[in-house]
Amino acid sequence: MSDFDYDLFVIGAGSGGVRAARTAAATGARVAVAEDRYLGGTCVNVGCVPKKLYSYAAHFHDAFEDARGFGWSLTEPPRFDWATLRDNKVREIKRLNEIYGRLLDNAGVELIHGRARVVDAHRVEVDGRAFSAAKILVAVGGWPWLPDFPGSELAVTSNEVFDLERMPQRFLVLGGGYIAVEFASIFNGLGSESHLVYRGELFLRGFDREVREFTREQMALKGVNLHFETNIQSIEKGEGGLLVTLTNGESLEVDAVLAATGRKPNLEGVGLDALDIALNPDGTVKVNDRFETTIPSILALGDVTGGPELTPVALAEAMHLVGQHFGEAPPKPMDYRNIATAVFCHPNIGTVGLSEEQARKEYDAIRVYRTDFRPMKHTLSGSEERCLMKLIVDDVSDVVVGAHMVGEEAGELIQGIAIAVKAGLTKADFDATVGIHPTAAEEFVTMRTLSRR
Ligand code: NDP
Repeated sequence: MSDFDYDLFVIGAGSGGVRAARTAAATGARVAVAEDRYLGGTCVNVGCVPKKLYSYAAHFHDAFEDARGFGWSLTEPPRFDWATLRDNKVREIKRLNEIYGRLLDNAGVELIHGRARVVDAHRVEVDGRAFSAAKILVAVGGWPWLPDFPGSELAVTSNEVFDLERMPQRFLVLGGGYIAVEFASIFNGLGSESHLVYRGELFLRGFDREVREFTREQMALKGVNLHFETNIQSIEKGEGGLLVTLTNGESLEVDAVLAATGRKPNLEGVGLDALDIALNPDGTVKVNDRFETTIPSILALGDVTGGPELTPVALAEAMHLVGQHFGEAPPKPMDYRNIATAVFCHPNIGTVGLSEEQARKEYDAIRVYRTDFRPMKHTLSGSEERCLMKLIVDDVSDVVVGAHMVGEEAGELIQGIAIAVKAGLTKADFDATVGIHPTAAEEFVTMRTLSRR
């Protein structure tokens, strides 16, 4: 046993920090976690979990419409009550916070409330209390960032949007990333007039071009107002709401503006600036493949290190970190290829591997198989919603290097396909798989006609 108070001192009880703390404690390490806010971090409190709950709420809008074609009639027009959703969400998150507390407790991890500051390679201070540790893990995550423009203080971020006092009847989101498309869809589904303002020519930069175009069409069809190649110039408080002036001269009156313009590392007060710890050009903490910073006893993982800002990535990093620093047989470095992801816009996007554009750069020759169709459910529902599925294949090896979907439950479906892509299976393997009928998913094993090379 070392002379330090702890073998591992974790700063931040988010997804990555909690997983690292529990897993390290299970190896017999003496572990503490410091947290100044809420247990579970962004994902549980103001991210994935409440977002998915609100997305479910928004989907009922379509479900009520779709039901008619199947013989259902609603005797009264459905009404939505924001306060019920918000307050039920608050209760559910409180339950999850308590579960996180119990998980740490049962694992024998000491929870210290307060903002921790790293003093040196082995010392941490929390509100005047000093602690020493063999290793310190910085897992403080990120924090929403928004550009500075006149009236930017009138915009909310994803930290506040779930808890708005009243449902905005007219809603505007700035940005073209995950949060922007998800919230434009959520408020549209809940019944708001919904606007998305994005500075580029098409949102979701970095995703497969065809997926982006298809999503644009589907979201517009559902009623989201898309404003591309423009930005917010200013927001002013007007009599009836917020007056938003765009750089293209257009102006819109809305009840709430959400800035979804990315996140920055949440390093304020953590003390790294006073130490000689190298940062990446974007301000995230630089680590090697053992998650060591330039001071090797100070480790970092998750959003603060600037990898894909996704909970499952932080969880996987935590498992690798503990294997490397507290395990008997250190695992191989974390493999960041083929990480599947879903965007919960409506309809959902699910994707794994390379986009068509990336595959054209990486491989000499590729084959693209794609289909878009009206899902069986919508033959009776009357909905115009369509589904896109797409496979990208390396022509030489026949390996499927990318799979993409826009459609209902795309995340659920692509998770399964991700195993095949991660395993390096070929198009012939997909073709040899017998489909499940009638599903949309069966298209992934029945696409035989080459769409293009
Ligand atoms: P993203 O980084 O995904 O997107 C930020 C958006 O803001 C981009 O479209 C960017 O434009 C735009 N932007 C940046 N600066 C400005 C500016 N000065 N003026 C106008 N627009 C600007 O961030 P999000 O906030 O959407 O989400 C943060 C992260 O959280 C995501 O990257 C994702 O990793 C994670 N997340 C994951 C989810 C999931 O797994 N389903 C859901 C929600 C979040 P441009 O493209 O031109 O740079």
